[in-house]
Amino acid sequence: MTDFAFPPAAIPSLPIRGRTDSFPVRRIYCVGRNYAEHAIEMGHDPDKEAPFFFQKNPDNLLVNNSRFPYPSLSNSVHHEIELTVALHKGGADIAIENAMECVYGYAVSLDMTRRDLQGEAKKAGRPWEVGKAFDHSAPCGELVLVRDIGFLEEGVVSLSVNGVERQKGDLNQLIWKVPEIISILSGLFTLAPGDLIMTGTPAGVGPVEKGDQLEGYVQGVGALSIEVV
Ligand code: MN
Repeated sequence: MTDFAFPPAAIPSLPIRGRTDSFPVRRIYCVGRNYAEHAIEMGHDPDKEAPFFFQKNPDNLLVNNSRFPYPSLSNSVHHEIELTVALHKGGADIAIENAMECVYGYAVSLDMTRRDLQGEAKKAGRPWEVGKAFDHSAPCGELVLVRDIGFLEEGVVSLSVNGVERQKGDLNQLIWKVPEIISILSGLFTLAPGDLIMTGTPAGVGPVEKGDQLEGYVQGVGALSIEVV
């Protein structure tokens, strides 16, 4: 192999609770409208939709940093609290019954969204990247390993802003459960170790302002504290 023309970018990674090594991130997949009440608040019928996916870029992760910089060219940046699933195995066409073998751990994350730009893209039938995949759009906490906490099938998912609860749901309300998500996603893309999946947000999304203090929580995983700056 020839040398690189310039030094390659660093590989984004997540810290792992209780360990000194870290989780190297390959891709970030996101599930859209995966809680019924959130689908309804966004104007959709949750009973009539197949799951759909979009992506963020690995270098959109905001880790080891509690300060989320308000992004450019938007006046409506929304919080979406989500459980992230981290994979240490992958493959194509993974059967539902084998899917959980791929799950290495979990993290508390935020799918920060330029809602105004996403809305314009939806209206025009354009891609969502400007709304979803901007710099620092994926604040994420440390990874907690399945080996330490077991598999999560239920538990509170919540977000408060300046001490006031805005979002609350339970993992048992996921329309598409984690094994189904992995199985369906693996039919579309070959999954691999290092992939993250953001599993969708419960109802109550809304705008943030500079100075806001966000407190995300997933029962069994932990908390994520972010200040909007
Ligand atoms: Mn989301």
